Amino acid sequence: MIEIQCPHCKEGIELQGEGFGLFDCPVCKLEFEWKGSFFVRPSIVTIILLIILLFSTIVSCGLYYELVNQDSVIGSIFTSYAFGFSIICSIILSIITIIRYMIELNTYHSK
Ligand SMILES: [Zn+2]
Repeated sequence: MIEIQCPHCKEGIELQGEGFGLFDCPVCKLEFEWKGSFFVRPSIVTIILLIILLFSTIVSCGLYYELVNQDSVIGSIFTSYAFGFSIICSIILSIITIIRYMIELNTYHSK
């Protein structure tokens, strides 16, 4: 069951079952077609994952900048390890975030 807004009277109405097709508004009695919303508001966990992902991407960019402007050899070895680590973190995080959101979409649409 999903809650939507009637396109005619803007009243909040609840749709049963599949969540798309032709419906009659219980408030204004007018018929409307609802194609279903493909995009679902992500859960708080997914939003947090996105924020961490954004943060680790910024860190990667900063480390890359450091690496390019590095003078000492030892410093550049350390920075390249940190850069590699943060890049791997970003990739893993984006995969987790995408999978999580896809699972959320799937559970939402199979309701
Ligand atoms: Zn209505």
